[in-house]
Amino acid sequence: MRCPKCGSENVNISFEETGSKTKKTGNSIAQKTGHSMVRGTAALFTFGFSNLFIPKKLKGQEKTKSKLEKFCLCQNCGHSWKL
Ligand SMILES: [Zn+2]
Repeated sequence: MRCPKCGSENVNISFEETGSKTKKTGNSIAQKTGHSMVRGTAALFTFGFSNLFIPKKLKGQEKTKSKLEKFCLCQNCGHSWKL
């Protein structure tokens, strides 16, 4: 891996998780209404139950839904870019 700016090979590669943003905004809106509290606890229970009964294989598939993106950071000039 080489820096496209200065050509140095002293580059740090890191992974960042993306794709869970839509869930967070949905939760914040739901918390404003009273009914959603009941829904929220119900969702918690169903989540707990599904967590118990979903086989390990399915859980693995869910994890792959969130994308891992590669980010590079040049230690020489500080230039960072997405792969
Ligand atoms: Zn560089």
